[in-house]
Amino acid sequence: MVARTALVTGSTSGIGLAIALELARNGLNILLNGLEPPELIFANPAFSEVSSHGSKVRYCQADLRNPSSIQGLFDFCNAELGPVDVLVNNAGIQHVAAVEDFPVELWDSIIATNLTAAFHSTRLALPSMRSHNWGRIINIASVHGLVASPLKSAYVAAKHGLVGFTKAVALETARTGVTVNAICPGWVLTPLVQKQIEARALNDKLSYELATQQLLSEKQPSSQFVTPEQIAELVTFLCSPSANNIRGVAWNIDGGWLAQ
Ligand code: NAD
Repeated sequence: MVARTALVTGSTSGIGLAIALELARNGLNILLNGLEPPELIFANPAFSEVSSHGSKVRYCQADLRNPSSIQGLFDFCNAELGPVDVLVNNAGIQHVAAVEDFPVELWDSIIATNLTAAFHSTRLALPSMRSHNWGRIINIASVHGLVASPLKSAYVAAKHGLVGFTKAVALETARTGVTVNAICPGWVLTPLVQKQIEARALNDKLSYELATQQLLSEKQPSSQFVTPEQIAELVTFLCSPSANNIRGVAWNIDGGWLAQ
């Protein structure tokens, strides 16, 4: 059987990298993506780890805020690995500020990266998925796609939009072999969250450890971080035949955040 190809956007660190690694372990060819120049990625031991499972692994630097770069990413994938069978829209950024102080250019960047990029990649991936009558589109949203927190207006708006987009495309593809779902993680310890812990420690004059504890205990009843590997295994499950009829869900994995 020909190996399937997965494009994982924003896969140079954190959750995206764990997803790429797990999909490679499962035999898929992988297109990694991020903002960093290729030489930096090829020198990173994480790249060798993703490549160590026998499938083909490529990297394409592309800024997803730019629709023509997303087209370039798909052109690269078609040339190097063939059409995208599994699309994981994972790239995301955060900024924390009150709405009246929110830098306008950061609002635009957050909406472009966390929401609009998923529209472009989905519209580019769907034709070949439909023609093979198989595909998986998995959008990494957030608990902030389902509930809000203060000071995160752009992120909350983008992630709510991404959950809505997921449902709409799941309905458009409901009678096909293409499924479209979202995963909504709570706190996961990645660079995106480390920055928020560091800012909290600085602002509230706390140690990093105490700032971490407070961040967790405010929202996440388990008081434990969700791990990137746990999210990656959920992605693998959504790619399996057992998940053929899971469509349009926004699946929270959040240590109990949304149960409150
Ligand atoms: P991260 O900062 O570790 O990784 C972000 C990735 O996105 C990197 O590979 C970066 O290169 C890439 N990226 C950023 N801007 C990009 C752009 N314009 N074009 C291309 N690539 C770009 O973050 P993470 O925590 O692993 O987050 C991954 C996803 O998970 C994001 O969508 C985030 O919103 C979501 N999420 C994270 C958490 C958490 O607690 N960490 C919780 C819920 C949801």
